[in-house]
Amino acid sequence: MGNLDKVLGICSVCKSIRISDESKIWLKEEDNPELYNRFIKKYEGKLSHTYCPKHFEEAMKNLDTSNSDPVWPLEMPREYLR
Ligand SMILES: [Zn+2]
Repeated sequence: MGNLDKVLGICSVCKSIRISDESKIWLKEEDNPELYNRFIKKYEGKLSHTYCPKHFEEAMKNLDTSNSDPVWPLEMPREYLR
């Protein structure tokens, strides 16, 4: 067995699994429960939590907003109003 280190990528958000490394195919349980569960069983204990392309994008967006400083309403300097 040459693929002992193989892990199954599973999306932390929607639980889609990456069933092909080369073609980056993601499978949702509702798309094909039988195939999905076959993969889950085969890779039991070798699940690697990650994000599918869609949720990866969303996670990156959330990261951006949480990293930026909150924009507080600034008090207008008095000199500026005169
Ligand atoms: Zn996802």
